[in-house]
Amino acid sequence: MVTEKQLEAILQYQPDSIPITSLYLSFDQEAKKQNQHKIVLKDLFRYKTEKSYFKNLSEEAQESIKRDFEKIQNYISMEYDRDGDAKQSLAIFSCSSEDLWEMHSFQMPMETSMVINPHPYLRPFVEAANRHRNYAIILVDRAKARILEVKLGDVVEHLHVHEQDMPDQVKEGDFGGTSERRIERHINTHVSRHLKNIAEKAMQLQQEHDYKWVYIGGRQEIINEFEGMLHSYVKDRVEDHIVVEPHAPLEEVLEKARKVEQESRKNYEDQTLSRLSDEIGSGQKGISGFPGTLNAQQRGQIDTLLVQEDFSTKGYYCPNCNFLAVKEQEKCPLDDSILRRTPDVIDNLIFNVLKQGASVEMISQEMDRFDNVGAFLRFPFQKSE
Ligand SMILES: [Zn+2]
Repeated sequence: MVTEKQLEAILQYQPDSIPITSLYLSFDQEAKKQNQHKIVLKDLFRYKTEKSYFKNLSEEAQESIKRDFEKIQNYISMEYDRDGDAKQSLAIFSCSSEDLWEMHSFQMPMETSMVINPHPYLRPFVEAANRHRNYAIILVDRAKARILEVKLGDVVEHLHVHEQDMPDQVKEGDFGGTSERRIERHINTHVSRHLKNIAEKAMQLQQEHDYKWVYIGGRQEIINEFEGMLHSYVKDRVEDHIVVEPHAPLEEVLEKARKVEQESRKNYEDQTLSRLSDEIGSGQKGISGFPGTLNAQQRGQIDTLLVQEDFSTKGYYCPNCNFLAVKEQEKCPLDDSILRRTPDVIDNLIFNVLKQGASVEMISQEMDRFDNVGAFLRFPFQKSE
């Protein structure tokens, strides 16, 4: 899910100002050595400035876009040509005359593209964010623990503990009856305290990062004990267990997590779509199809927009206020500007919805029965009187 928060700066941007440059750039590590990304960038710039859209812009707008190009080139030369920077792709949104500059980098490939438009081109960003929701992996063992966060393909380690002062295991026959039980109790207290600490840390991190899903990894018996200690706030997000040996290499853990993540996403989408069906069926807080969803957006009614990933449709937008229309009409009813045609009006819709403070979900499965687009509404649909 993408929300207003993640893109705050871009969403402040007003469509009636100078156009915004949106760039998605993938870094092929081999090509990078030969500076191919610089050639790609130059070609993109040249191509854009030769287009009639650019040529018909005011001098001020053209200047601003040229400055966007320079800033982007400088940034990439300064930040991305350094060795050791292994990020795979980045997204830049720039509007120099408005002092707007926002950069996001991703540890996953993204298709290279550049768009100059009266609104930021957000579709690839939203798609990536929905394909790679942030989740946590908590690996637990009697004396060790790691908490990893996976976000947009990046792995961040938040916690890595190894309890050095854990008493050794009681060896069979080393002690007589009573002391053996006493030492065992002592160990159990240590383990409990250790697990409790991890559970507390997990709670803190959940509050900070709001993980969509939490996976607990380790041996099954310790997972069960640990899960019992989790705060319900974290427990509600526990989606699955990853059974691994405590010494398993990180790559093995991540590989298993990616598999369960795909399963999680599918389940989540199934639930979301069936909830949408219910809302539409009861005539309450659900709508489907582009025209109806568009009306809901213009009434400020959308809580969550749902779009099938591959779906795009042509439509018309006002370059001044981003009013959207399904059919050709000459002028914007709000400010009399001439509406423009676009092959993908869904991208405008995504921007408008986020700007209203609502969220957007891109769905990977088919949404045929909803005509590929729909929304949960903040308040019930009202029939016109
Ligand atoms: Zn308008």
